[in-house]
Amino acid sequence: MGDMIALEKRYGATNYAPLPVVLARGEGVWLWDDQGRRYLDMLSAYSAVSFGYGHPRLLAALNEQAARLAVTSRAFYSDRLPPFLARLCEITGMDRALPMSTGAEGVETAIKCARKWAYVVKKVPEGRARIICCEGNFHGRTSTIVGFSSEAQYRDQFGPYSDGFVRVPFGDAAALEAAITPETAAFLVEPIQGEAGIIVPPEGYLTQCARICRERNVLLIVDEVQTGLGRTGKLLACHHEGVKPDGIILGKALGGGLLPVSAFCAREEVMGVFRPGDHGSTFGGNALGAAVGLAALDVLVDERLSERAATMGAYLLGRLRTIASPVVTAVRGKGLLIGVELDPARVGARQFVETLLKHGVLSKDTHGTVARFAPPLVVDREQLDWGVERIRDALREYGPVYERAA
Ligand SMILES: *Cc1c(COP(=O)(O)O)cnc(C)c1O
Repeated sequence: MGDMIALEKRYGATNYAPLPVVLARGEGVWLWDDQGRRYLDMLSAYSAVSFGYGHPRLLAALNEQAARLAVTSRAFYSDRLPPFLARLCEITGMDRALPMSTGAEGVETAIKCARKWAYVVKKVPEGRARIICCEGNFHGRTSTIVGFSSEAQYRDQFGPYSDGFVRVPFGDAAALEAAITPETAAFLVEPIQGEAGIIVPPEGYLTQCARICRERNVLLIVDEVQTGLGRTGKLLACHHEGVKPDGIILGKALGGGLLPVSAFCAREEVMGVFRPGDHGSTFGGNALGAAVGLAALDVLVDERLSERAATMGAYLLGRLRTIASPVVTAVRGKGLLIGVELDPARVGARQFVETLLKHGVLSKDTHGTVARFAPPLVVDREQLDWGVERIRDALREYGPVYERAA
């Protein structure tokens, strides 16, 4: 184990500080390290592994398609991409889908599409289009995207930044309304801010945003890369409020935990602005990714994983809320996307997730004070109970732990 860590530290770029565990195998919700020790995965690769490790249907789709045809580029049609696009539109309620590989590429696609829509349809003067985004946003790591991040570490010293973005407070629809000008192309928002620490906006926020955007001829683009595909207890997090946006970005779980697969899905009038040659990607929409993405969408629906996330998420949230510990200051989330806020005076989140690791649970800190719990959606009650006991064990190292009445 030490060998691998030393090797990575010697040859890898220093842009990550992984927890000290060397993973070697996964099955369902469990991971094993190179010493054979078992862990409950409560991170799911930031929601990319919603189906768990080694899901038989996804593995079969991957292996069969890999042997038949994988990458051809989009210079040609394939017999795998069209059904994937159709299913994406069916599931999102959108008219057209543009496949990419990573979440950040999906966001970049949405930005380009919104800007072109502003010029072609809304008739904003060339070069003037603005996109409104939120304080605390996380939309990926490209140089354009980090330019509108409010997080110093994501942004600082990677400038000069791309022009044309404005930030408003998250969860404040009045602030959105006040920030709109005739040059505003779109409002780009996460239904729940994941990286910011699982921040759930006030109820009705997205509905109000949708109304404001409609009235002011501004596109509502929802980044569901982390919250989408069942994670929060609905197929899409925007379905909690019955909101139909103009564009939706999907990623992470769309690749079934096996491949990078993302997509920007949008209404006809919006996606219709792209002409052949306007935008593209060598790997986006490749037959292998399309086959796995389609299988992932089918598994999501067939196994009723959104409903499962709702039930198991409510159960986990309830269990976590019965933990009375001076270390825990708040427990929040929706479905199986849960954040536990820790008192930094007692323990830092990084130290806490290292303690959890020692007790056999994999989680990740965010923003110094939050430990996040987002297990694969296939998790069951017994496994969650086991995880909660380990969380209690870890908390006990920093103070007394009592049971609060549910
Ligand atoms: C992870 C994430 C992204 C970026 O996805 P990558 O695949 O890492 O590029 C974008 N938006 C949200 C909300 C995310 O959580």
